[in-house]
Amino acid sequence: MTRVKEVLNRIDATRVWQEQLYRQLHSHPELSSGEAQTAAEIAGRLQGFGYDVKHVGGGVVGILANGQGQTVLMRADIDALPVTELTELPYASKVTTVDESGATVGVSHACGHDVHVTCLLGAAELLSGGRDAWRGTFVALFQPAEETAAGARAMVEDGLTDKVPRPDVAFGQHVLSHEAGVVGTQAGPVLSAGDSVKITVFGKGSHGSMPHMSVDPVVLAASIVLRLQTIVSRETRPGEFAVVTVGSSVAGTKSNIIADRAVLLINIRTYDNAIRERVIASIERIVRGECEASGSPQAPMFEYCDQYPLTDNDPEVTEQVTAAFRSYFGKGRVIELGRVTASEDFSRVPDAFGTPYTYWGVGGFAPGQQPYPNHSPYFAPTIQPTLDAGTEAIVVATLAYLGQEGS
Ligand code: ZN
Ligand code: ZN
Repeated sequence: MTRVKEVLNRIDATRVWQEQLYRQLHSHPELSSGEAQTAAEIAGRLQGFGYDVKHVGGGVVGILANGQGQTVLMRADIDALPVTELTELPYASKVTTVDESGATVGVSHACGHDVHVTCLLGAAELLSGGRDAWRGTFVALFQPAEETAAGARAMVEDGLTDKVPRPDVAFGQHVLSHEAGVVGTQAGPVLSAGDSVKITVFGKGSHGSMPHMSVDPVVLAASIVLRLQTIVSRETRPGEFAVVTVGSSVAGTKSNIIADRAVLLINIRTYDNAIRERVIASIERIVRGECEASGSPQAPMFEYCDQYPLTDNDPEVTEQVTAAFRSYFGKGRVIELGRVTASEDFSRVPDAFGTPYTYWGVGGFAPGQQPYPNHSPYFAPTIQPTLDAGTEAIVVATLAYLGQEGS
């Protein structure tokens, strides 16, 4: 604990620029895969803190080698969302963009990734300034495009594992609607795997008055939608978790025309890879079976997108980090996070190295402040103690591996 205090005793100075930077990032959000200015800001600061800086797949990685010891990687995501901010904060985002349909929409840090960037940069400076108190290598990884499930994959595909030393342990964190100053940990699965699939099934078009000349894709799609409900209710063991949602079912244009195809958009959430694979196999089996039953003239098409891996916290790493949190924050500020049905692409980074990891939550709302969920246009964490807690959590978890006596 003395080593943690040694590193964190400069936080008063760090906090001053962190709060300024946070407001600046919050009012200048950038959408997924377009985070050029945010990445440049990060790279410049890391250089100033004495880090070896690498640009990988649209992200930025800072490496601080500080003698013999283990390697710890901490990841922060940096992208914003196409959400029009409705807070009345003086630093609220006024940034807009034009979406695919030509409509103007706001851009904001409605998921709080600006908190993640600010906390990791703060911890990076503290660990650099306090390097006499620890040994090993600290890797600060800033990942683009979390919200589109593309960023972690892009960094891995751009050779992340060749460009960055293999970490012995990896961490990620997210600001959530819990009370500010609180951190939450969870061993095992913490965020669900998320998959989306676009399914096109084919019929035979006809006049609405001549159904005998058709294979009706509306009836086919309706059968599929009903039958899909049995995957969770009849095929999944009671008590096990799976979600299968048909978010969209579209066919046809007019009452007197039988269309030639229907398109279904399906979302899947699971906490277990075996269940995930079984659910996907069941969906494909049911769709193919119903197409066969209706005499569909062409095999169905399955297009998978927005695929998020399971976030499955290593029990030993989680225990070690939780113990360090309890000893620093006190038991009252460390909660059991529980499972969250949201999804993340964080785990692609440690999985690429074969590194165990833990991903924790940080509260962002003051007592008495109305908490809003992530992605809400009103999502606006209180600056303190949120930034302090997020910064301290990174330093405490890192020194649980790099700050041991004698190491
Ligand atoms: Zn989000
Ligand atoms: Zn997020």
